[in-house]
Amino acid sequence: MPTPQGVQPPPQSRLGPASGFSDLAPLGSQPDAPAPARDPIRRARLMVVFVCLALLATNVWFIVDARAHAIAQAHLASTNLARAVAERMEASVSETDHILDSLVYEIERTDFSQSALDDMQPLMVNHVARTAQLKGLFVYDAKGAWIATSVPQWDPSWNNADRAYFIHHRDSQSASVLVSPPILSRSSGEWIVPVSRRLNDIDGRFAGVALATLSVPHLRGVLERFDVGEGAILLTVAGRMVARNPSIDADIGKPLPPSAVRTTLETHRSGTTEARSPLDGVERLISFEHARSYPLQVSVAAGKNQVLANWRLNSALQTVWVVFLCLLLERAGAYTRRMMAQRLQAEAGLREARDALANANEKLAALARFDDLTRLPNRRYFDRRFARVFRQAQREGGPLAVVMVDVDAFKKYNDHYGHVEGDECLRRVSAALRATVKRPEDFVARYGGEEMVLLLPQTDVLGATMVAEAARTAVAAMDIPHAAVVAGKVTISLGVAAAVPGPQDTEQALLKAADAALYEAKRKGRNQVGVSA
Ligand code: GH3
Ligand code: MG
Ligand code: MG
Repeated sequence: MPTPQGVQPPPQSRLGPASGFSDLAPLGSQPDAPAPARDPIRRARLMVVFVCLALLATNVWFIVDARAHAIAQAHLASTNLARAVAERMEASVSETDHILDSLVYEIERTDFSQSALDDMQPLMVNHVARTAQLKGLFVYDAKGAWIATSVPQWDPSWNNADRAYFIHHRDSQSASVLVSPPILSRSSGEWIVPVSRRLNDIDGRFAGVALATLSVPHLRGVLERFDVGEGAILLTVAGRMVARNPSIDADIGKPLPPSAVRTTLETHRSGTTEARSPLDGVERLISFEHARSYPLQVSVAAGKNQVLANWRLNSALQTVWVVFLCLLLERAGAYTRRMMAQRLQAEAGLREARDALANANEKLAALARFDDLTRLPNRRYFDRRFARVFRQAQREGGPLAVVMVDVDAFKKYNDHYGHVEGDECLRRVSAALRATVKRPEDFVARYGGEEMVLLLPQTDVLGATMVAEAARTAVAAMDIPHAAVVAGKVTISLGVAAAVPGPQDTEQALLKAADAALYEAKRKGRNQVGVSA
């Protein structure tokens, strides 16, 4: 048989929310928002990783950019130096060319007369003395024999017909100046760069060669005035090495060793390139410049190590700093994460404590409403419920019944069986009463001692009497032995009072009427239902 009852004792836990007592909502039962995930901590960690990666990437970008900038600056400086030195060399050759030009003009004008050549001698000495780069001036006849020179001591038997420049002028009609690769001078034994022109007789036939020699030591001195650090400046004439800073005396007159650099130098008028020097194996940034009018070329090489030394130091310091910042950030991040974790933990602890408190409150609230022994609502609860139901009946105009229940001769029962048995008897009677009421809004409470009360809304006196009678029968049917009474078992007496409460009526009056009816039942011999008139 279903037992829809308005008042169920709380389950063993005696928690309120499920017990159906809507008028006494338990405290603190608001469900919590779910505890925050550990997301913020993960996000904080990702943030730190992202910032560190960004810092490192920026660092790499700066380093790469700074390297390109350092190399560009070095190229610029080398290019300017190469251009300046090339112009200086060109000016020297040009000056020599002019001297040679005036010499040629004079010789050809005087048609190689011996007296004119003799007169020219001091002039040539004077030129050589005044012109720093000029080592000597020479005039050879068509057979290569010396016919005039600035050199004070010379052997008339010397002949230069075998020199390359001599052969060139003999075989070529060109009147242009020829700047030849360096050779060892016959007169001084020094390295010189020959600058020569063809001499023609009056009929335009080859009549000899006028030669000016540039001093290689002087040219090297010019180069050595520039501080090139780990770098180098190289002067080549007609593809042959003439002078270099630092010096390379053993290589004078030789072509550059075959390499990609040499190919670049030979095929471009000016430019920059990067290569390991074929001469000393040092990696260099090379800028080169050809003179405009002569086959001179100046290359300036900057040591890559030296160019990048500052960059390396700065990059290393910068990287150390960035790594330090990253470590600092990581430490700070770890500290923040730890703090966050602690805070989350503390919050979770607080939430737990609050839940526990709410639980305890709920339990207390439930305990405060129910009777421990019978697990029926207690008197306090009954009073509140009764007042509410009574007001509702007043408002709605429906009938309301109260049944007061009292165990018969319970004092004797206690005396006979003891209080423990008495308690058990009360529990069983309570259960029987609870089983008797059927409507959800019916309410059974322990009124006090061995007295119980039934509150039956929307029930008139007839209905209430039937419920009371059913309760009485149910208790009697349990056959709980009671040796101290004639009936031999536990019985109850009930007092029924019902009314459609008017505005002036009070619940106390109704209760009193039920009590009076109960008293009447007792008086009439117990184990019966008394009904209020
Ligand atoms: P009557 O038929 O007139 O009601 O007689 P009675 O003995 O039941 O009446 P009385 O009110 O004098 O006695 C009630 C007794 O119920 C007194 C008390 O010892 C007992 N009692 C009250 N509450 C409890 C309880 O919680 N447990 C037990 N075991 N006994 C209780
Ligand atoms: Mg009593
Ligand atoms: Mg009694």
